[in-house]
Amino acid sequence: MTIPDPQWAEATRVIDAAERILLVTHIDPDGDAIGSLLGLTNALRERGKTVDAAVDGGVPSFMQFLPGSQTVLQAVMKGEWDVMVSLDASDEVRTGQCGIYGRKHSKVVINVDHHPTNILFGDIFLVVPEAVATTEILMAWLRDMNQPITYPVAVPLLTGLVTDTRGFRTSNVRASTLGEAQRLMEAGASLTEITLRVLDSMPYSTLELWKYAMQSVELTGTVVSAAVTQQDLKRAGIADATDGGLVSILLQANQAMIAVVYKELANGSVEISLRSKPGFDVAQTAFSLGGGGHKQASGATIPGPLEAARERVMPMLQQAAKEGALVIA
Ligand code: 5GP
Ligand code: MN
Repeated sequence: MTIPDPQWAEATRVIDAAERILLVTHIDPDGDAIGSLLGLTNALRERGKTVDAAVDGGVPSFMQFLPGSQTVLQAVMKGEWDVMVSLDASDEVRTGQCGIYGRKHSKVVINVDHHPTNILFGDIFLVVPEAVATTEILMAWLRDMNQPITYPVAVPLLTGLVTDTRGFRTSNVRASTLGEAQRLMEAGASLTEITLRVLDSMPYSTLELWKYAMQSVELTGTVVSAAVTQQDLKRAGIADATDGGLVSILLQANQAMIAVVYKELANGSVEISLRSKPGFDVAQTAFSLGGGGHKQASGATIPGPLEAARERVMPMLQQAAKEGALVIA
């Protein structure tokens, strides 16, 4: 599937003709998901639009400092919209119940995303795989709209850049990315506050979880792996299946080119989180398992039990490790 050129003018025309707009993002939202949702919500409200923003479960507590977060709906069960904008989601399932309801009750869908695995659902596409974050695409779109970057717009947009580049450290960061970050800081967004809140903070229960999960750490060739079991989560007092970012820590091992964490879900399925060093691609593995993502960070949910999932995924990752070579430009 070839990704079409971004339809800036068409997207702007549809927004300007619309009265009621629904914005949705992906389930289990990260900083780019919520950053995109709130950055665009605040900008379009300043443009005089009636905007509903929704994500299943609402805004996670560590992002509730973002301006406008208290207006985000945790579910949509009624309403009709002229336009729905899907943000940072590579497929419709990722948009959860909010996205599925919204698409049925919206006349036009604009798909704004930076995942190379985007399946091109919707009607108008602002899909830019080179963008480091969906919020970077929104910067370009807002410029096309002549929409000013005010403080309530800047803070969420910078949060997306910081999250998806892990603090401007990923290999896709360009000088122009820092230029966008500069504009957002000039509008008043604090890089220090955002970094502290979204990257450098975790509940103590995450450390407890790592204590248990680290028992399973293993290096096979250049693939480092670990598992998070339901028992680990229970002992740490954590309700939903997460690795709390452990996969990125594992990848820091000098010998590892690819890292994977297998998370046992309450229903027995297994969620995998994949990370790779520059020059290695884990997006294709995730995509072929029904998930998606980026070369350096991807994921999927596959049938369990844990051991069967490991046996299925490990050879694929060994292959991806063989096909890559470390590139540090
Ligand atoms: P994480 O390991 O942080 O859960 O996910 C890393 C990245 O992989 C996400 O930012 C997202 O791009 C992608 N990803 C994770 N799980 C899924 C999934 O189930 N489906 C799709 N399409 N992408 C996923
Ligand atoms: Mn993103």
